[in-house]
Amino acid sequence: MSSPRFRVAVCGGGVGGLTLAVALSRYPDLQVDIYERARSFSEVGAGIVFMLRPFKVIRKLGKKLEEALLGKLPVPFSEESSTGFRFRKSDQPEGETLFDMVIRGSLINLHRADFQGVLLDNLGPNVKTHTSKRLHSYSQSDDGTLANTLAFEDGTTATCDILVGADGVRSAVRAKMMQDLARDPTSNSSGEMRALQEYLACIEPVFSGVIAHRALIPAEKLRAVAPSHRAFGGVYTWVAKGRVITTYPVSMGKFVNLAANSLDESLMRSAHSIDANHHQRYDGDWVKSITKDDFLDKFEGMEKEVQTMLDLIESGNAWVINVTKNLPTHVHGRVALLGDAAHAMTPFLGSGAGQAVEDAYMLSELLGDYRVTLATLSHALTVYDEIRRPFSTNVARLSMENGFTAGLQSGTPISDMEERVNGAWSWAWETEIDDSMDEARKLLGKRLGA
Ligand SMILES: Cc1cc2nc3c(=O)[nH]c(=O)nc-3n(C[C@H](O)[C@H](O)[C@H](O)COP(=O)(O)OP(=O)(O)OC[C@H]3O[C@@H](n4cnc5c(N)ncnc54)[C@H](O)[C@@H]3O)c2cc1C
Repeated sequence: MSSPRFRVAVCGGGVGGLTLAVALSRYPDLQVDIYERARSFSEVGAGIVFMLRPFKVIRKLGKKLEEALLGKLPVPFSEESSTGFRFRKSDQPEGETLFDMVIRGSLINLHRADFQGVLLDNLGPNVKTHTSKRLHSYSQSDDGTLANTLAFEDGTTATCDILVGADGVRSAVRAKMMQDLARDPTSNSSGEMRALQEYLACIEPVFSGVIAHRALIPAEKLRAVAPSHRAFGGVYTWVAKGRVITTYPVSMGKFVNLAANSLDESLMRSAHSIDANHHQRYDGDWVKSITKDDFLDKFEGMEKEVQTMLDLIESGNAWVINVTKNLPTHVHGRVALLGDAAHAMTPFLGSGAGQAVEDAYMLSELLGDYRVTLATLSHALTVYDEIRRPFSTNVARLSMENGFTAGLQSGTPISDMEERVNGAWSWAWETEIDDSMDEARKLLGKRLGA
């Protein structure tokens, strides 16, 4: 490549980092380096769900990628309205149907490794990948005009013109950004000034009060004891106070995927809070193996059909869901945050990965804009922060709200549930990113004096 327009370093090769790298592959005059701490690119966990809005964003990244992904879907993709989730009141031996939620577009359910494989196959020649590179810290010049220096745990260093922290909920990039802002709050260009302690409180992830207990139930075994079990017939959400279970068939019907969330209302209420005095840590392992008895114990008393599934569990995992506080900015100088590093959220809208994808797309469009140069790239980053941060922060809030509603938490009459769930979720299929993208382009034009 002749001298690039500028060099982008992406820290973290998860959903967000790889999507950004694919999106930047469309601009061959940019040099992109991905630094991933693991020895190889690998995804933990089985499935990942996308709603229509983020899936439409992914489809914008290229025909080849789009076709590869469509080929991996268990059911053909459709934009027609369909039954998304069937809600059941399950806090009694015989449960009852609450409502069927109609969504636009089919639920896009991908195997994580498949999605990652497609992204890796679509990296352009302007992207270099570096594995076993765990970022320790970075430095940037005070006035943000010189290259950033990256320091890795293996003692090596690298330089770049922009650093994007796509390094997940325990982000090293977020930690350094918040330390720098605490030292000099006036350098926060978002205009949202906070006290030193509040910046520092944003460094560590916060325990959301939610634990996701996940297992795969062999369909054959379930069919043997309950041939017409409703879990075979779609995506079900089984709710009881403090407990929300979602089930759906996976692997071409060989298994029923079960994600059983336990909720602690008071912890959930303060998880995203910007109050520096509220800081909930989970000190044990974030992912651990659990047994059938753990499931039976946690989800005791739920309706019979739930108990039938739990009785067949062979083994599972408990995932402690940690989130980020609402950050005062996702950008500082020539450094930006994306995905879980910026806004890790609860799972009640199935939108964490989708929001990482949306961040990646908007950031790539702004950086790729031919008018953006080394001298003006800080404008692209501040526009990204101004347009994306309010949106993703709101999605995190709505996800939490949906958890309260579905988990029959206090103040949620059952009669209001359908309206509330729809109200929290419908943006994910009724809106598109194009409107905010247009707004971002206009704002960028204004800032560049174009
Ligand atoms: C149990 C569970 C189920 C979920 N299901 C869904 C779902 O169905 N739909 C959905 O939209 N979302 C879902 N999510 C959320 C989703 O997984 C995340 O929002 C998404 O993975 C965020 O992507 P990311 O790239 O920002 O972060 P990550 O996927 O966490 O990737 C971060 C990457 O950075 C690397 N890294 C970390 N630190 C460093 C460092 N210092 N230096 C270099 N590399 C580093 C990591 O190794 C990793 O590869 C789920 C989450 C959980 C826990």
